[in-house]
Amino acid sequence: MPSYLLALAVGRFDVLEDSAAGVPLRILTAPGKREQARYAMEVTRQVLPFYNDYFGVPYALPKLDQLAVPANRSGAMEDWGLISYAEGILLYDPARSRPLQQRIVYELVAHEVAHMWFGNLVTHASWEEIWLNEAFATWIAGKLVDRFNPQWHVALNARAELEPVLERDAGSATRAIRSGPVSERAVYDVLDSVTYDKGGAVLSMLEQWIGSDVFQRGLASYMRERRLSNATAADLWHHVGQAAGHDVAAVAGSWTDKPGFPLIGVSTRCVAGQTVAQLSQKRFLLNGEADNDTLWQVPLALANDKGAHASLLSRRTAAITLPGCGPLVVNAGGHGFYRVDYAPAQRRELTRRFTALAPADRVALLSDRFALVQAGRVPAEEYFALLDQLPRIADGSRVPLYLSALDALEFLDRALAGTRAQAHVRSVGRKVMAPELARIGWVARAGEDPQVPSLRSRLIMQLARFDDAQLVAEARRRYAEAGDGATLPAGLRSAVINVVGMDADGARFEQLRARLLEARNEEDRWLYARTLTAVRDPALAGQALQLALDQRVPANIATQLPAMMARQSPHGARAYAFTQTHWTALAQRAGAMFNADAWLLAEVAQHSNERAMIERLQRDDAATTVASRTPAARAADRIRLLADVRDREAPRLGGTSTPVQAAR
Ligand SMILES: [Zn+2]
Repeated sequence: MPSYLLALAVGRFDVLEDSAAGVPLRILTAPGKREQARYAMEVTRQVLPFYNDYFGVPYALPKLDQLAVPANRSGAMEDWGLISYAEGILLYDPARSRPLQQRIVYELVAHEVAHMWFGNLVTHASWEEIWLNEAFATWIAGKLVDRFNPQWHVALNARAELEPVLERDAGSATRAIRSGPVSERAVYDVLDSVTYDKGGAVLSMLEQWIGSDVFQRGLASYMRERRLSNATAADLWHHVGQAAGHDVAAVAGSWTDKPGFPLIGVSTRCVAGQTVAQLSQKRFLLNGEADNDTLWQVPLALANDKGAHASLLSRRTAAITLPGCGPLVVNAGGHGFYRVDYAPAQRRELTRRFTALAPADRVALLSDRFALVQAGRVPAEEYFALLDQLPRIADGSRVPLYLSALDALEFLDRALAGTRAQAHVRSVGRKVMAPELARIGWVARAGEDPQVPSLRSRLIMQLARFDDAQLVAEARRRYAEAGDGATLPAGLRSAVINVVGMDADGARFEQLRARLLEARNEEDRWLYARTLTAVRDPALAGQALQLALDQRVPANIATQLPAMMARQSPHGARAYAFTQTHWTALAQRAGAMFNADAWLLAEVAQHSNERAMIERLQRDDAATTVASRTPAARAADRIRLLADVRDREAPRLGGTSTPVQAAR
């Protein structure tokens, strides 16, 4: 057993006990919170037996404990037989928890318990191979959430969750999943979204290509052969390749061993009742032109009216002939970790036929269309044309499509902040969002799609941010009617409190601040922290920032306050100045674990659309003694992207790119 997996926990605990597959299970909480661990226990009872079967190797220890840490830490750690979590991501309170909480708990427990195999039973041979833990735990957790909770449509929602890493991996500050030897000092640089999220998505694509039964047999053989030992990527692909009966290492390596991913160009012709598709690949970059040397071995899933067709694109270009004509979809099913750029005629046809596409293909098309806007290949108006069709979607993809649209609109709002075009984007946004909220209503209906509560919550918060005055008045009314939020239903609680906080005056702010300081559970602390940093009043924003230095607010939350403010409110510049002024005190509170200190300035700066901020961040970052410069480089990529989109879209959408203030 590697030494990093040893844990000892000391405290007074309430204990919830159960068992699964003959293994005694316990969840330890702070006193009084045992009942809130019931959901996580139910999840553990599902996932542990599943893994026993899937790997064909039973859980290796005589017990499994899980611990809900009540304050001062974030995330989770898979110590063997004693997994610990921040309580805000392990506990679930049906009366108070936010709509997404069950999904978050399910996915995390599935992820951490998977580490009892990926990481603990078979350990990466070096830090370069940490993806053998994290990419696999991420991939299989997604698989389990979907298997046991089909009502959440996890596969359709997966794309939106991948957007941040797709964006990062199309920038200059990315790296390969396996990016060479890792020194102890830089180890947190590889515990990042490339390892977890891109890694998980690449495995999902490879599983589709190889076949899920074969993939499982390969993994089970790998677990049997390498148990209580170490492993490398070569060991893994050896076992999967043996199960598949052909070499898979070269295809897999083209995804794990180089940074970035391809843009697949597609143009089609109909020749004598057959589709002739011209396909090409080149690296997708959001700023700058790609060199033409990098090639991937791309598992393609093609589909048209006549059926599906799998193919491996390993050269720069290829021509493929398929039976039947009609619109061709590349990346059918949406498992590919790449973007698709259809020729204009096909793009128009797919827009026209959008509602007739398969649900996963609609989600991938909408996602890719927005990335092409970000890259300057397609104007934002072409993206808005797809949004016009969302009200006609009636299946499980409707909520994921709206959620994806909300993310895109939020990005555009940030990119266009301070220009005339921002008002245009907010008006487009209100036209997309308000009718959808009116349709699903403020009150949960019996039998509604289980995805709806989280969409409702997002719509309420984003409409408020997009200046829907009627909505803000309605949120205030409901807050007052529910005894200043005390009796709000769980599904509305976080959204309504957030909107009320955005709109707060001095007395309301004081009330919400007192609730943050009095909160006795982590979920509420995060809720009130988000709420206070959303405030629009500039003087109150100043008071919210002071809480970052207040010892009564636990450090994991306090040090995030400036970044939360930059993300949610117009006071990003102020939050940055505050962070810069108090950097030493904040860095001390944040600590260096997971590069938390190195992220302080970068996390605030990354929401700016001003190019001058890049230089300022680099200068301020250089004046600190942090172990990693990656956070600053990643933030610089993000700012550059926001500024590029502003420069392109502000004149098109607003008639001018001049800041509103300067124009007056
Ligand atoms: Zn993990």
